[in-house]
Amino acid sequence: MKHKPIVVQVVIDKPLAQGFDYLWDAEKLGNLPEIGHIVEVPFARSKVIGLVIKVSDHSEYEIEKLKTIDRLAPLPPLDPASLRLMNFASQYYVHALGETILPTIPKMWKKAEDWEKAHKKLESAGKQAKKDGNVIAEGLINQDQLNSSQKNALQALLSEGQKRNLFRAILLQGQTGSGKTAVFLNWLASILQDESAQVLLLVPEINLTPQLERRVRAYFPNKKMAVLHSGVSEKKRGVAWYEAMTGKAQIILGTRLAALTPMPNLRAIVVDEEHDPSYKQQDGTRYSARDLAIWRAHDQKTPILLSSATPSLETWMAAQSGRYEYIRLDQRAQGASLPGVHLINTRDPQNQFSPGDADAPKQKSLITKTLARAITKTLKAKKQSLILINRRGYAPVLSCSACSWLSKCTQCSTYTVMHKAGALGRRSVLSCHHCGLIKSIPSFCPDCGNADLKTLGHGTQKLEDAIEEMWPHARVLRVDTDSSRKSKGAEALFQEIHDGNVDIVVGTQMIAKGHDYQNIGLVAVLDADSRLYSADFRAAERLFAQLVQVAGRAGRSGTAGDNGGDIFIETQYPESPVFQYLLRHDVDGFMAFTASEREEAGLPPCSYQALVHAESKSLDKAIRFLTELKVHMKTKGLITKELKVYDPVPKPVMRVAGSERAQLLIESVNRKVLQEALEAVDLELRQDSQGRISKVSRIRWLIERDPIAI
Ligand SMILES: [Zn+2]
Ligand SMILES: [Zn+2]
Repeated sequence: MKHKPIVVQVVIDKPLAQGFDYLWDAEKLGNLPEIGHIVEVPFARSKVIGLVIKVSDHSEYEIEKLKTIDRLAPLPPLDPASLRLMNFASQYYVHALGETILPTIPKMWKKAEDWEKAHKKLESAGKQAKKDGNVIAEGLINQDQLNSSQKNALQALLSEGQKRNLFRAILLQGQTGSGKTAVFLNWLASILQDESAQVLLLVPEINLTPQLERRVRAYFPNKKMAVLHSGVSEKKRGVAWYEAMTGKAQIILGTRLAALTPMPNLRAIVVDEEHDPSYKQQDGTRYSARDLAIWRAHDQKTPILLSSATPSLETWMAAQSGRYEYIRLDQRAQGASLPGVHLINTRDPQNQFSPGDADAPKQKSLITKTLARAITKTLKAKKQSLILINRRGYAPVLSCSACSWLSKCTQCSTYTVMHKAGALGRRSVLSCHHCGLIKSIPSFCPDCGNADLKTLGHGTQKLEDAIEEMWPHARVLRVDTDSSRKSKGAEALFQEIHDGNVDIVVGTQMIAKGHDYQNIGLVAVLDADSRLYSADFRAAERLFAQLVQVAGRAGRSGTAGDNGGDIFIETQYPESPVFQYLLRHDVDGFMAFTASEREEAGLPPCSYQALVHAESKSLDKAIRFLTELKVHMKTKGLITKELKVYDPVPKPVMRVAGSERAQLLIESVNRKVLQEALEAVDLELRQDSQGRISKVSRIRWLIERDPIAI
């Protein structure tokens, strides 16, 4: 008698909606198949890694023609809850299941030829970890050391005890410096008393993980922690992922890519700085790690804590309406007071240097007199100043003084930024921040031959030069992605500030995120206006969050009796609501104001959005492609009172690396209506496409759910 065949369905990392059937030879593979197994399969003329999503004894295809699974990874199958999460992500973000799951598996487990050696690798990694010893543990604040506000917050978190199977979404809102981390780490301690429990701790920035890692170590010296972010080596990542998916690691700490890590015993999630746009993945499956974490907690009936000083409007509204629990931490830890906010009106001549001023710089000053004098005062008080400008490089554009030539990128619809010698190479260069193109600086204007080329505007490098000139005795440090790449990385630069080896720091907002500096007396923001008025409706919300965050740097000095520092904002529009609410430290006021604006305009979170992106050699073609799609949606009856489709428009940066880009905005007040429309759009576009490239027009398209920039 012939045995019934074992047929498995496998998904692979391709934009293909369906899975493929293969035969399973249990004898050869030494195991019976399970959903969630990682396997190597023959595909086309090569071999690829896939994941088993179905096991049965029949196929819609002729059994005889099915190919056989080659190899089985030496791993347990992914747990059912993690697979549900992947399924949800695939459906919600309209991305094929295979191309959603497989990119989340570290490379170490996607090389079948290495599978035999995998367990040796794990062993050696374990030995190495023991030899390296633990990271320095610091920053433990145990329950007894919490202030009364923190104690109340912790009590509220613990109120449900250790109840299993209870979904709770909790917003922990508190000013920077109010000690949110100590609260949630003490809360996690109670959950981790269970030796099998796993917790997921998400942070927005790779730069913030070492700091949090040290603190987590201090709280949990004996727990196994897996750290996952893009800066972790492939091997370490492979090991960390293995320890998470087998339940061996109890604490999983990482950036957005950790959000999809399989964890069979997940019992709690913390999303720190939950409002941060870095949680949104900007390529591949464009997911929001925070949103997926909330879904995951709901699906697995576990608590999730969202922590922020300036919550996203989505989260804030959910907490206000009672959908989320709302815990406030309104007392700054260690009694540090709030920073003073000063708006410097740049249109007011009194704020500017005049030729008679003794301290006026020789050249036109890049900063106002009011700010310059505050910096001098801060220097005298032996405190540090942070000066922020969100533009790296020397100057955003080079221009010809005789004709209208500007340093445009040849491949993009943007300008190339001038970088000083030593920043991106040994010489000064022009660099495009969109496509990465680097060009040498022309000696003459390419259009008219004029030798007098001038920079327009200024970035961190030019500001650094100007500051050094104005305060020749001050120790100045520049912190941006250029300088952190060159030195021993961002950590080393931050350490310089911590150690007090620096008087004035010039940099992008990268300096401001999450770091507790002890001796900052002044924070200045120079280019807030450029982010105040933007086509993106979230610009003001984001600017407000950033300003609150950087203001927090100024007030963080902990010594008793010490005043908080000051934040100075140079602006032409001091009357704008963003600044006015900031002046009063009124986060909730700003949120309520923004919420009513969004409600009135019917914008998220009061509605849901999606973009269809189209990319082509010519903008016309991309627009035509999207126009045809809109017409199709109309004829199919998809455009209703509940679903609005706007006209296709060029993207804000239209041309990048030689491709011209357009987008179509789809909006609905009803999530389900939007979902159905997107699935229909996906189906329609796929019919004439290979992957996501249209066979006819060669247009590359992509659907993005909940875009964070329009
Ligand atoms: Zn010229
Ligand atoms: Zn470019």
